[in-house]
Amino acid sequence: MVSKLSRRRFTKLAGAVGASSAFGLSACATMEPPKARVVVIGGGFGGATAAKYVRAIDPAIHVTLVEPGRTFVTCPFSNYVLAGFKTINDITHNYNALAGMHGARVVHDTASGIDPAKKAVTLAGGETLQYDKLIVAPGIDFRWGAIDGYTEAAAEIMPHAWRAGPQTLLLRRQLEAMADGGLVIMSVPANPFRCPPGPYERAAMIAHYLKGNKPRSKILILDAKDNFSKQPLFQDGWKAVYGDMIEWVPLSKDGKVTRAIPGEMTVVSEFGQNHKGAVVNVIPPQFAGAIARNAGLANQTGWCPVNQTTFESTIHKDIHVIGDACLAGAMPKSGFAANSQGKVAALSAVNAINGRPTAAPTYVNTCYSLIAPDYGISVTDVYRITDQGIAPTPNAGGISPRQADRAQRTGEARYAEGWYAAMSQDIWDA
Ligand SMILES: Cc1cc2nc3c(=O)[nH]c(=O)nc-3n(C[C@H](O)[C@H](O)[C@H](O)COP(=O)(O)OP(=O)(O)OC[C@H]3O[C@@H](n4cnc5c(N)ncnc54)[C@H](O)[C@@H]3O)c2cc1C
Repeated sequence: MVSKLSRRRFTKLAGAVGASSAFGLSACATMEPPKARVVVIGGGFGGATAAKYVRAIDPAIHVTLVEPGRTFVTCPFSNYVLAGFKTINDITHNYNALAGMHGARVVHDTASGIDPAKKAVTLAGGETLQYDKLIVAPGIDFRWGAIDGYTEAAAEIMPHAWRAGPQTLLLRRQLEAMADGGLVIMSVPANPFRCPPGPYERAAMIAHYLKGNKPRSKILILDAKDNFSKQPLFQDGWKAVYGDMIEWVPLSKDGKVTRAIPGEMTVVSEFGQNHKGAVVNVIPPQFAGAIARNAGLANQTGWCPVNQTTFESTIHKDIHVIGDACLAGAMPKSGFAANSQGKVAALSAVNAINGRPTAAPTYVNTCYSLIAPDYGISVTDVYRITDQGIAPTPNAGGISPRQADRAQRTGEARYAEGWYAAMSQDIWDA
C-alpha cells in the first residue's frame, strides 16, 4: 500500500516537474521569441531569488542569470564552519534547480560592463546579452586600502572571511594551528556593512572552538563603532557561556583600526596603539560590488540608491539593484533582506513588462545568531514604505528577551537551522 501510494505520488510529482520544465523550455530553449528578456547579475541571495521568481511569476519571460561560480557558498552559517560544527559542504549550493525545473539560462561568467542606453550586458567571456529589464545583485566589494596596508595580499595573512569559501577555510586553519593561550584579534568596520550582527556571532563561534580546544586563549574585538546589533544579548551570552574570553573595545575607547601590518600580525588603532595577534581577522569597510559601481549605479556613498517600492535604480531606468549593493532604507544588509528584495524586484519587473502597476510591498527580515550551538538569539522586523523610505513597522517584529531560560535559547538555535533550510530551498535547492 505504502509503495503504491508513493509510486502514484512520484508519478504525479514527476509529471509536474516535467510540465514545468517543458513550460520553461518553451520560453528558453525553443526558437519562439520570448515575451521579454530579463538578465540577472549575481547568483547569491538576491539574484538567484529574483531569477527564480521572474520565471515563477511569468514563465513566458526569458531569464538569464550571470554568475561566475558553479556553486555558491553562503556566508550565513559560515561562522559555524569556523566553530567546527558545520562543514563547507553543508553551506554549498548549486544552480541545478534554477537551470532545470525553473527554466532559467545560467551562464557561468562575469558581467564586465553594463550599457544602460543600449540595454546590454557584456560578459568577460565575450558574449553580449540584451535585456528589457536588468536585475543587479553583485553583493559587496572590499575597500582595499581604507585600512592602511590592508590589501588583497594582506587578506591571505589576515583573512577577512567576509565572503564565504576559501577565506573561511583559511581562518579556520589558522585557528586550528594557533597555540593555546593565543590572542585572536577581530577588526570590525563602521556601519553600513554586510550582516550587522555577523562579527559578534563570529566572536562567539570562535570562542566556542577555543573553549573546547584552547581554553587559555582570548578574543579581542576592535570596533569602529560604539554600539552594535543585539548588543546586550550578545554581551550577556558571551559572559554566560565564555566568561571573560571575549573583550570588546568600542570606537570611543580607541577601537577603530586604521592600519594593518601583516608581516608583524599587528593592527594599529586610530590613536596609535599596536595590537599583535596570533590570528588576525580584519573585516574591512565595504561598498557595492564593482559591476554596479562601474555602471554608475552607485552614488557618493558607494552604495546604489533605488526606488524603495520597486528596487529600480533611481539613476538608470529598467535596472533594479537588490541585496547588499543597494540602499534599502532601514533594512539591514542580510541574506534574508536580499531574498525579500529579490521577490519584490522580480514582481515589479514582470508587472512593468506586462503593463501592470506594482502595489507598495512589505518586507521582512529575521537575523538569527548563535552564542553556542544550542544558544540562539534573534531580531525580526517587518518593514513598510513610508515618506522616509523603507522603515520598520511599529509593534511588528521583535527581539529575543534579555531574560530567558536555556530552553528558549535552544529553541531559537533550532529555528535558525529551520530558517537556513527554508531559505536555501527557496533560493537554490528546489
Ligand atoms: C559571516 C556572515 C554571516 C552572515 N549570516 C547571515 C545570516 O545569518 N542571515 C542573513 O540573512 N544574512 C547573513 N549574512 C549576510 C548575507 O551573506 C548577505 O547579506 C547576502 O549574501 C547578500 O546577498 P546578495 O545577493 O546581495 O550578495 P551575495 O549573496 O554575496 O551574492 C552576490 C553574487 O554576485 C556575484 N557577482 C559579483 N559580481 C559579479 C559580476 N560582475 N558578474 C556576475 N556575478 C557577479 C558573486 O559571485 C556572488 O555570487 C552573513 C554574512 C556574513 C559575512
